[in-house]
Amino acid sequence: MDLGIQGKNALVCAASKGLGRGCAEALAEAGVNLTICARTEKDVIDTANEIRSKYKVSVDSVACDITTSEGREAALKTSGPVDILINNAGGPPPGQFRDWTREDWIKAVDANMLTAIELIKFTVDEMISRKFGRIINILSAMVKNPHVIMGLSTSARSGLLGLSKGLSREMAQFNITINNLLPERIDTDRQTRVIEFQAKLAGISYDEAKNNMEEELTAKRMGTVEEFSDLAAFLCSEQA
Ligand code: NAP
Repeated sequence: MDLGIQGKNALVCAASKGLGRGCAEALAEAGVNLTICARTEKDVIDTANEIRSKYKVSVDSVACDITTSEGREAALKTSGPVDILINNAGGPPPGQFRDWTREDWIKAVDANMLTAIELIKFTVDEMISRKFGRIINILSAMVKNPHVIMGLSTSARSGLLGLSKGLSREMAQFNITINNLLPERIDTDRQTRVIEFQAKLAGISYDEAKNNMEEELTAKRMGTVEEFSDLAAFLCSEQA
């Protein structure tokens, strides 16, 4: 299917690895020019080079922390007008409700709610003027099935979901969509680290811990980055 977005410009945040990188690749395959960012300079440059040479699209890279105002400024300066915005960033660590301080909460809200809201705020008016915009927020399945140890993450992401839903109603008339993707377990480096942690905690092998985790999933396996990213690319399409 031709997604109808060849030549559009996308800013894909947190995209040197995992879900962000997957989305960047799926968009590049559809002919979209990219600006990608991540904090580790070598990784983001390598990823940009790989995507550029594989899909023959323009790919700019920015080494920045997207959860800071300087990082967002740098990313937007490089990207220029954005047709497609993929909001993504690392999440806060698990913890105990009673241990979290006001500073912990502010940091989580800043990173996983206000960062995306700021990026939407800075890009949406140009989208309106071009009558095209596709915004995706990468959240987490836990937004719909919260666990208290992930409270910092789910609470901040729920706030973003709420704003996005309301704003999407106002934006649809301008051919701008805002979608939230709620992954449960997609096979990325992050999940590898989670499984390694669980294996160590339970004193079992990595494979055993992975099997135990997959047994709890409805499909009895993790999703692949490609499955997740193909959906993201469709949601960025003209048809969507
Ligand atoms: P990952 O494999 O660890 O990849 C994370 C990517 O984001 C890397 O490129 C990392 O590069 C970049 N990054 C992290 N923090 C950043 C920041 N502040 N500024 C710029 N770049 C940043 O993780 P993932 O599995 O793709 O997860 C992505 C997001 O989805 C996370 O918020 C995660 O909590 C959420 N999620 C994932 C799953 C899943 O199944 N994978 C499920 C639920 C929720 P640098 O470290 O170099 O910055």
